[in-house]
Amino acid sequence: MNIHEYQAKALLKSYGAPVADGVAILTKDEVDAAVAKLPGPLYVVKSQIHAGGRGKGKFKELGPDAKGGVRLAKSADEVKAFVDEMLGNTLVTKQTGPAGKQVNRLYIEDGADIDRELYCSLLVDRTVGRVAFVVSTEGGMDIETVAEETPEKIVTVAIDPDTGVTASDVKTLCEALKLEGDAAKDAERLFPILYKAFVEKDMSLLEINPLIVMENGRLRVLDAKCSFDGNALFRHDDVRALRDTTEEDAKEIEASKYDLAYVALDGNIGCMVNGAGLAMATMDIIKLYGAEPANFLDVGGGASKEKVTAAFKIITADPAVKGILVNIFGGIMRCDVIAEGVIAAVKEVGLKVPLVVRLEGTNVELGKKIINESGLNVISADDLDDAAQKIVSAVKEA
Ligand code: GDP
Ligand code: MG
Repeated sequence: MNIHEYQAKALLKSYGAPVADGVAILTKDEVDAAVAKLPGPLYVVKSQIHAGGRGKGKFKELGPDAKGGVRLAKSADEVKAFVDEMLGNTLVTKQTGPAGKQVNRLYIEDGADIDRELYCSLLVDRTVGRVAFVVSTEGGMDIETVAEETPEKIVTVAIDPDTGVTASDVKTLCEALKLEGDAAKDAERLFPILYKAFVEKDMSLLEINPLIVMENGRLRVLDAKCSFDGNALFRHDDVRALRDTTEEDAKEIEASKYDLAYVALDGNIGCMVNGAGLAMATMDIIKLYGAEPANFLDVGGGASKEKVTAAFKIITADPAVKGILVNIFGGIMRCDVIAEGVIAAVKEVGLKVPLVVRLEGTNVELGKKIINESGLNVISADDLDDAAQKIVSAVKEA
């Protein structure tokens, strides 16, 4: 689960991290009160969407010459003018895709005078099984670009969970970021704070890009992206309360209600599969035969008829879906339950696209019988290869 920048900053501030004062607003009426709370004369107006690259992003409605999604304002009047332009419009950045995201919240912040922009993130480093800091002197730009062009400028420091951030870790990080004097003193406090927040809140990623050295030599968290481990959210009511479902895919929200492992993708073949491995294999084989999956969907081991029905509805509700492949290996899951779920869903929502069903395993004969006697126009397939070829050609012919 992701949260907005202003929420991430409030969270980090509660742990003692240095962040600027700021006020989030949802309507234009709130601008005056927000500005009055800040010292000025430099303000930053920041679009709050769950995507990065906002500074270099462009508003669809404003044309290519207008300023981006993060703007520096030198007066209260300029803040107001920016809010007027930005709020409600659609920001397109490298990370939003061409459709962009509507900006429904703005964060108005006390502006900083920047000396240097650094990169600092924390993530779970699977190769060493530890939380690691990834830092670079090249902040404020795409870390992917830095990794590609100048990988030697990225330093990774994995933290031993028994000791937490040690003095030696801090030294390594400060050297990597060329921090001295007050900035190094701030860093000595900041790194353990970031680590503590990351571990306590079960984050999966905390990215500060940029972490800045200000002209007065002090450190400040200027941007913050924070993702949480969905499997640990049950123990963080405070974090769950920060969820902004308007930023999430509607189909994924619906799927999460039924505890379905669903990820929306860009293709046109909807997949209903049980087991993550089989779901991955199904996506691969669809690609092998020249088409693209519209989703990843694992209905799970012991899915009920209701769960299957919900899954089928989510797939058919996607206008991009031009064909559906149901690929089930009945182990714990019974093929007749899948068959009943599919038929119940089809009867409820109708079937406007070709449907290929491949069943194998427990109660497979009964499952096939239920489908064959349903009177529905279902193409049955014998194995994974056969099923993939059938759905790909059915979609191409349609
Ligand atoms: P992003 O584009 O979505 O990553 O948004 P950021 O919060 O990282 O802001 C983009 C850029 O705007 C930063 O890299 C800075 O160069 C600039 N910026 C943001 N806040 C301030 C500020 O308080 N003062 C100054 N001078 N520049 C800022
Ligand atoms: Mg940034």
